[in-house]
Amino acid sequence: MSLLGSTIYLKDDPTTVVGVLGIAILLCLVLWRLFRWLFSGPPQPDPWSEEVAAEIAKDDAVPLCHRCLAPHDSQVDFCPDCGAPVGPYTNWLPYPYLFSIGHTLRIGASGDFRRSPLTIAGFLLLGMVEYALFAPVYWFMLLKGLSVRCQSEPPSDLPPQDAPSAGD
Ligand SMILES: [Zn+2]
Repeated sequence: MSLLGSTIYLKDDPTTVVGVLGIAILLCLVLWRLFRWLFSGPPQPDPWSEEVAAEIAKDDAVPLCHRCLAPHDSQVDFCPDCGAPVGPYTNWLPYPYLFSIGHTLRIGASGDFRRSPLTIAGFLLLGMVEYALFAPVYWFMLLKGLSVRCQSEPPSDLPPQDAPSAGD
């Protein structure tokens, strides 16, 4: 009751009304400037040429795996070479999404990903969400994969190259 009384008292105070109106106008101005800033810039150009963009837009363009760049059929859910989920709706399907999560967790355990505090924290969190009580087992595998990869070689985001033959 006393809170209601003080609220009514504050509404009658002209200084408070002017202050609240000023804050509201300032907030509206900031939001309007933010909205203009977000939508006023030119659209970002594609990192490839217009010729490549035209090739991509063709109906008979062959889709490539986003992980290993291997061509695959447009109807498959997973890349036949590396197992990455490549279907447009694979992560939304009730059953195949489990394999997609498994593939992501295997990437973390193998240590073959671009390491940053954010990605490592993401793998730790994903392991906790997916495995609950068994998360420490996954965390052990994750840290083991990270330490093994740190000692041997930097992570590769590119598909494995063929080894040069002895005759070259
Ligand atoms: Zn692949």
